[in-house]
Amino acid sequence: MKINFLTLFPEMFQGITNASIWKQANDKGMAEYEVTDFRAYSDNKHNKVDDYPYGGGAGMVLRAQSLVDAVEDVTCEAPGDARVVMLCPQGAPFSQEKAEELAKEETLVLVCGHYEGFDERVRSVVTDEISVGDYVLTGGELPAMIVADSVIRLLPGVLGNDNSAQEESFTDGLLEHPHYTRPANFRGMDVPDVLLSGNHAHIEQWRRKEALRRTWERRPDLLEGRELDEEERAWLREFEE
Ligand code: SAM
Repeated sequence: MKINFLTLFPEMFQGITNASIWKQANDKGMAEYEVTDFRAYSDNKHNKVDDYPYGGGAGMVLRAQSLVDAVEDVTCEAPGDARVVMLCPQGAPFSQEKAEELAKEETLVLVCGHYEGFDERVRSVVTDEISVGDYVLTGGELPAMIVADSVIRLLPGVLGNDNSAQEESFTDGLLEHPHYTRPANFRGMDVPDVLLSGNHAHIEQWRRKEALRRTWERRPDLLEGRELDEEERAWLREFEE
């Protein structure tokens, strides 16, 4: 997958593209990163990319020209094929499901806003709008990193153990079960006996139950409309009691 970040602050990407899973994915040839400063596309003699809002009001607006030209240039090899994602607090809430969908693409362009946001006409070259939460950040760089990170770790072969992406929170609609590692007793807190038992069927059953408990306690909204089997319904009655 090729991921292109369109930004006014390319230096923000230096650390993340050279560390951890991002670097490993790149070293293994599974993900390629390009960071494009869209100021370079400005047709303004002072390279300005923003201007005052029509109608007045606070803040500056990102002009359409430099961003639209930049998107068209970085997608010129396969126009119409790339997913062009605008990071925007007004976009669709980001989710694991969306990350899985984007992970199937060959080219991803992540458009990072700034100031008051985008001239509305930038949307003419955008395929998706994504928000990372109901709060406002200074720029789209951190949201773009969040989206890219969740996608990169889903690319086949990127994580050492392929299963580790499949067993995580949200993948099957639930939060993940609790984890423990050595020692078996830490400050008087014991690891549940079943995890030390070596009985894989019991461990699996405990994990399914604790994933359900955790979801019921913390994110009951995830259980709405979910089809539960008989065992899960019994567990829910037990939690409620
Ligand atoms: N005036 C805009 C509004 O009220 O919707 C907010 C602009 S914000 C200060 C500047 C840029 O940060 C946005 O254009 C967007 O790229 C990015 N941004 C801020 N919050 C975001 C969020 N929750 N999700 C995704 N992008 C966000």
